[in-house]
Amino acid sequence: MNFHSMSADQLQATQQDLRKLYDELRSAGLSLDLTRGKPAPEQLDLSNGLLSLPGADDFRDAAGTDTRNYGGITGLPEIRAIFGELLGVDPANLIAAGNSSLELMHDLTTFGLLAGTPDSAQPWSAGPIKFLCPAPGYDRHFAITESYGIEMIPVPMLPNGPDVDACAALTARDPSIKGLWAVPTYSNPTGVTFSEDVTRALLEMPAADDFRIYWDNAYAVHTLVDAAPTPFPVIDWAAEAGNPNRVYVLGSTSKITFAGAGVAFFGSSAENIEWYTKRASVTTIGPDKVNQLRHARFFGDADGVRAHMARHREILAPKFRLVLDILDDRLADSKVAAWSQPEGGYFINLDVLDGAARRTIELAKEAGIALTGAGSAYPYKNDPLDRNIRLAPTFPATEDLRTAMDGVATCVLLAATETLSASHES
Ligand code: PMP
Repeated sequence: MNFHSMSADQLQATQQDLRKLYDELRSAGLSLDLTRGKPAPEQLDLSNGLLSLPGADDFRDAAGTDTRNYGGITGLPEIRAIFGELLGVDPANLIAAGNSSLELMHDLTTFGLLAGTPDSAQPWSAGPIKFLCPAPGYDRHFAITESYGIEMIPVPMLPNGPDVDACAALTARDPSIKGLWAVPTYSNPTGVTFSEDVTRALLEMPAADDFRIYWDNAYAVHTLVDAAPTPFPVIDWAAEAGNPNRVYVLGSTSKITFAGAGVAFFGSSAENIEWYTKRASVTTIGPDKVNQLRHARFFGDADGVRAHMARHREILAPKFRLVLDILDDRLADSKVAAWSQPEGGYFINLDVLDGAARRTIELAKEAGIALTGAGSAYPYKNDPLDRNIRLAPTFPATEDLRTAMDGVATCVLLAATETLSASHES
């Protein structure tokens, strides 16, 4: 029954029933974790072929480069060609780097702060600067900007991408806005994929010359449906819009092969690539080319990656279905929650009753179910409506996931009755 149309007595009776259910849940002594979007062990098993690649006598790339030795700051051409196709970037403009795209984003930010971009009159750190943060968004993006004291301005995330009118209104009048965080495909955590209109508007909008869009296409190929969307050629579109250096394309194989033991990519204009490699070559003599070679051998080509992602999908789609079915069964009638139906990515975005997210997460924690901290998907962990919860269904085994989600549903309902009773009383 719709909780909003309950009388105070009905609400109290419902709350008592839910309390009983919750007490049973708590006494079950669970220890379950829905916090981080990690691949499950069976997903990692899909890439075990990598453990014996490139093989004892295989260490040269197609150009004859000995991958065992130093050098080659831009990475192996073979792996750049494969991921260039998947990320919509000309391989000439794509670097294959170390194991972490987050590290690349961090370095791009600190290079901007300390040295300025090719379009900066002075280092970003010469004055206070700001980044636009579509929210809900990815907590580790916000952690980078927060850790360097960059002011974060939340902008609403809409069904087709960030609210571009809000972004443009801000960037047009404030040249201290230097960045925007973006996850354009199956966004973390909302599952939103940016439309062409939103994408073009972001690339075209008036902004400081050294304004940069961190186009973190972490989930470009992580589809739960037949095919992932074709990536937009954002570097070309930025150039056509007269802003050739605006966009930093990022990606990695972290959730394709081994999380933390994969290959990360950075794509941008020739000028930005030159600027980045000059700075990066101070920090490293070159990336792990042996790892890049084994990834190239493992996949063969872009279709090899797509086929591999279809196997991930076979594991993940039933888990997402299970979570969505439980949410539907347990929460739909009460009208105290809404959730995303993602076609890819790693998360389900759950919005509970305004003012009830923190309490829901606390109840779950006391019952041994760890959820991502309240407000995590917002800059400064400040969810203004206290309603957002990020669910990460990939890692737990199916039965654990069922138990955890059923428990979460009980917590959502109980917290909602508490919030509604409090508002009845006031
Ligand atoms: N970007 C997004 C949007 C992510 O969700 C993640 C992983 N959770 C990362 C980047 C991290 O990628 P990497 O392992 O390449 O640092």
